[in-house]
Amino acid sequence: MHKLTRGDTMITNPHGILLFHCHPCPEGVYEGRRTGGENPKVFGYEDGTVDALAKDLASLGIEKAVAFAPWEVPEGWAISRMPFEYSQARHGRGANEWLYQELKKHRDILGFVTVNPRDIWATQVVEEYINRGFVGVKVHPPIHRFRINDPLLDNFYSAIDGLGVPLVIHTGVSGRLAPFPYHSMPILVDEVAKNHPRLQIVIAHAGGAAFCRQALAVAQSNRNCYLDLSATIQEDSGWYIPREEIMLLIKLCGSGKIIYGSDWPWGVTDRIRKDIQEIRSWDISEVDKENILGGTFERLMEQSTL
Ligand SMILES: [Zn+2]
Repeated sequence: MHKLTRGDTMITNPHGILLFHCHPCPEGVYEGRRTGGENPKVFGYEDGTVDALAKDLASLGIEKAVAFAPWEVPEGWAISRMPFEYSQARHGRGANEWLYQELKKHRDILGFVTVNPRDIWATQVVEEYINRGFVGVKVHPPIHRFRINDPLLDNFYSAIDGLGVPLVIHTGVSGRLAPFPYHSMPILVDEVAKNHPRLQIVIAHAGGAAFCRQALAVAQSNRNCYLDLSATIQEDSGWYIPREEIMLLIKLCGSGKIIYGSDWPWGVTDRIRKDIQEIRSWDISEVDKENILGGTFERLMEQSTL
């Protein structure tokens, strides 16, 4: 049985599904996008609050999830996730503090700190929230416009390594909202992984269709790199990877490197249900399926704290 810890809470999850890679937001943020946004089809969900996530987890029969704090970005750079009162004014703490307070009510949802690593306060915010019980860090290179292997970020990566928590790095082409593929090429992760061999790194979206072979190369070459399949499974998903390519990733890396992610709330409940059904139908072993649906993440957490 594997154990996950968050603060003083011990969370055990012997064979259950863990819903990795969720993006909750304060009430009204997604709602506003949905009704007034540019693409109502993409934002076709009711709302994206932590309470809504908990409700969806219950309806899916899933006990545990990993939630990333929302991004804080100046309006106009990409989708601005947070209203100003949560945002820039509080030196990177607004969005993380919001999630921290919300998760007090939802002990089965594990929090990840989200920061712009270029901010001078990034390391401090990470340390603060990891010490308060968050279990990992998420960064988004195209939204925050940094290059993954920028030497200036080395101290930031060292700090995360020192805290013994995993780092999730967004990869893949993000379309017109953050059209900077050069910033999000998985191959750039290789240098970070080699410079920080104890740091467990999750390559989010496994690079998507555009870069999944790069993600494969990095995962095959570094013991500390994993691939997250969020928004890759269904054909209309943002980072869709054809089935044969996903099978190749599993075959060449092993399921112990692969983590299912939902990208909730873009991954609405029905889509998650479909994803899980599809994973269960794949021509791989039951152990592989359990790894992908939660086991790999749990072992990664154990690795991080060794
Ligand atoms: Zn995401």
